[in-house]
Parts: sequence; C-alpha cells; structure tokens
Amino acid sequence: MQKLRERNTYTPTDIPHVRGNCDSRLISPEGRGRAANLKTSFNNPDAALTAREQAGQALRVPAIYVLNKRGKPLMPTTANKARRLLKKGLAKVVRRTPFTIQLLCPTGEALLPVQLGVDSGYSHVGLSAVSEKRELYSEEVHLRDDIVKLNAERKQYRRGRRYRKTWYRKARFLNRGNKKTGWLAPSLQNKLNAHLKTVEKVRKILPISQITVEIASFDIQKIQKMDIEGTDYSQGVQLGFENVRAYVLHRDGHTCQHCKGRSKELTLHVHHIKSRQTGGNRPDNLVTLCTSCHRNHHEGNITLKIKKSNGFKAETFMTTIRRTLMDQVRDKGIFIAPTYGYITQQNRRNLELPKSHVHDAFVIAGGKEQKRSPTTYFTKQVRKCNRKLFKGDRSHLPNTAPRFIQGFQRFDKVLWKRQECFVFGRRMIGYFDLRLLDGTKIHASAKIKDLKILESAKSFLTEVRRAHSSDSTRLSVSCVNFL
Ligand SMILES: [Zn+2]
Ligand SMILES: [Zn+2]
Repeated sequence: MQKLRERNTYTPTDIPHVRGNCDSRLISPEGRGRAANLKTSFNNPDAALTAREQAGQALRVPAIYVLNKRGKPLMPTTANKARRLLKKGLAKVVRRTPFTIQLLCPTGEALLPVQLGVDSGYSHVGLSAVSEKRELYSEEVHLRDDIVKLNAERKQYRRGRRYRKTWYRKARFLNRGNKKTGWLAPSLQNKLNAHLKTVEKVRKILPISQITVEIASFDIQKIQKMDIEGTDYSQGVQLGFENVRAYVLHRDGHTCQHCKGRSKELTLHVHHIKSRQTGGNRPDNLVTLCTSCHRNHHEGNITLKIKKSNGFKAETFMTTIRRTLMDQVRDKGIFIAPTYGYITQQNRRNLELPKSHVHDAFVIAGGKEQKRSPTTYFTKQVRKCNRKLFKGDRSHLPNTAPRFIQGFQRFDKVLWKRQECFVFGRRMIGYFDLRLLDGTKIHASAKIKDLKILESAKSFLTEVRRAHSSDSTRLSVSCVNFL
C-alpha cells in the first residue's frame, strides 16, 4: 500500500467533476445527518457538470471510484476531491487502475441508478457503465485465445510421457466427469469466467443497479442455407453418405480443388485446411486434393488457392454460454436483462457511432445523450504462469529464468521514462523488453535501473487509453462493413 500511496502525486488534475457522496462531508460537516437517497446538488453528480466539460473539452480520467468504509461502491468523485480526502487521511487508495479510493469514515450514501452494458463476445468484451447524464466507465477486454492450443500441447506431452522411459504416467480415460451437467469445454469455460470476472470487477467499484447483456442465438444451419425449413434441419447435407470423407469427395466432384483435375491422378486425398486441432472435422474445413498437390502443399512448395472457412466457433460459443452467463449473473442478485444484436445495431446507427465494442456496450447500457467517457480501459487477459521447463523445441536447455529478476516478473506494469508499459521479456543481465498491451515496442532492452514498478502482474492487465482513439482508423472499415 505504501507503493500506491506514493503514486498519488500522479493523479491527473483535469478530470470531470463527478461528485461523490463524500462531498457532503467535505463541504458541510452537518451534511452528515442528511437523509440517504435525497438528491441535492451536493450528491448529484449530474447536476455538477461544469461549463468547461459541457463544451466537450478533452479530459483525462472519467472518474475516481470511491468505496465506503465497508468496501461497498459509492458514486465516483473527482481527482481534486480524492486528493483532498487522501491528504486529510479520510481515505486510502485501494486500486491504481482504475484508480479507486476507500473512505475511512462513514458517510451518507445517496446512489444514483447506474446501468452496465456488456457486449459479450468470443474474443472481445465491451463494458460501459452509464448514469443519467454521463458515462462513468468504459472498457474493452481482450480474451485469451490460446486455451485450445495449450490443452492440445499438454495432451501431447502426457502422451509422450507414457511411452518415454521416465516415471510412469497412468493411462487415463473415461474418468473426466465430462458428463456432469453444465460442463463446458475449457476454452469456453475460460471465456465465460472472464465475462463474469469483468462484470464483477465493475460491480466492485460502481453501484450498478442493472446489467444489460447482449446475447445472441445463432441458427448455424440457417446461416449456411437461408431457405432451410422443416425436415431439412434433421436431414443435413451429409445424409446418405458413409462418412464425412465420402461427402467431401462427392461435394468436390471427385476432383482435386487445387489443380482442378489437371494432374489426372486417380488417388484423391481429403486435406484439412486448418489443422484438425484448430479447424476440426467439419466438411467446410476439408478439401479434396490429388496426391501430388497434397504432398507439394505439405512440403511448402505451393499455397492452396482455397478460401479458409472461418467456422462457427464464435456463434457456437454465444449459443452455448448465453444462458449460463445470464443465470450466473442473476444468481449474484443483480437485475439482468438481455438485449439483441439487431437492437444494438439500430440504436448505434441512430447515434451515428461507428462499430466498436465500447460503443456497442454504451448503446447496450442505454446510452443516448450522455457525455462520453474521455478514456477507455484497455484490458488484456494473459496466462498466469509459463509451464515451459525447457527452451524451444527439442532443446534440453532448461528455462532457468526465475520468476523474479531483481524484483520484476513478467507482465509487471512499470514506469520507464515517464511512460507506463509492461514487462514482456526479461534477461538475467537486467535488460527488459517493454511493450504496451497491443504489442507496441517501447524499448527492446531497457535498463533495470530506469524502471519503477507500478503494479505487479495479474491475469487481467489494464492500461488507460484515450477513448475512441483507434476509431478514426477503424471508421472507414466499419462503415463499409455495415453499409
Ligand atoms: Zn491436384
Ligand atoms: Zn493435408
């Protein structure tokens, strides 16, 4: 906590005046006896918009989040108020990003309705919390997409261990408990957990009164074939074929799809466009090739002139988790309402906002005329640990770097020449690779002496970005997408 307290000097000074409940205590000591929930200009953040803010001047941090003495969230406050409270010893810092303080004295607790909008998704989650007149929180979360790969890798290692001359790894099958109700594939479970965690994180710093989640149910067969109806659903395209291979050969007309039969070879292979591990055995991941084309492709001599199908992973994910997500949030005793993509799209167009996760979340939360948050929290989910014991493939050089090198570990947030960045790579000699969360290089080999630790590594790394900064570049693309 000492570390955090020291950091208060960096609190920006030009932030909007979102008033908190602590205001009444600061301004008038007799305000302590004020009836709870009574809206006054003291405790109504929306009444306190300054002229400068209304003019839409660019500001840095939307709000300093406030917890009461018992750790329950109150309405956010301004940096000035927060600094005064901290100086007087009436509050302490509990989190650096998003900057959150906890009051050390009891106060009146007038809360305004705050709506949280969640734009759920397969690889990104958008979050936005809005009150009547302003957006109090805006976040974009990038989820992990390496679970499938890592699980497959682990499976390989274990298999290897059963045959290698080493301690015996017991053969295991049929003991996985996969048939338990509510079981999800690990990759999906991870994404579901990440959704719940991010929602919970916002609930810890803001008094959320309602959550709206965009859920979607996809009819994958209908996406593939628009006029599907009745028995078509149960009698799919593969009906009557012995197996998928037979269907794929028939679909491709028993012709190599690369050379279109010019090689005149009789033996045909069925090739996985994406590896079986990531692409699966769906017919749209399979293609007919002749022996020489297949061999040439695998030897790297030719690139196939075949479009890779995107598959329906994202759609399957949404359909699988939507009910669980709703139920698990509801179980925490919060009012949760579903909304649908087409409603979001319509509302977003009405507000003339470009397509992005934070804009979607804002619209989902019921955002209309509210003043938008000038900053967005950009969060990336990363692996907690690195299980790799040896360097590279077939190498027996041990990965000897300890977890901490001179007090720094991977993914620590550090300050280097007034720039906040993350430790992405470390060398034993004390030179580190520093980057931003999107991979932008800050310094490939910064001296350890120049680094100051700001936050220790977590599985959700957060950096503050100017809101909608990437929109200008994304705008042209997204307009094309939905026109
Ligand atoms: Zn061919
Ligand atoms: Zn192949």
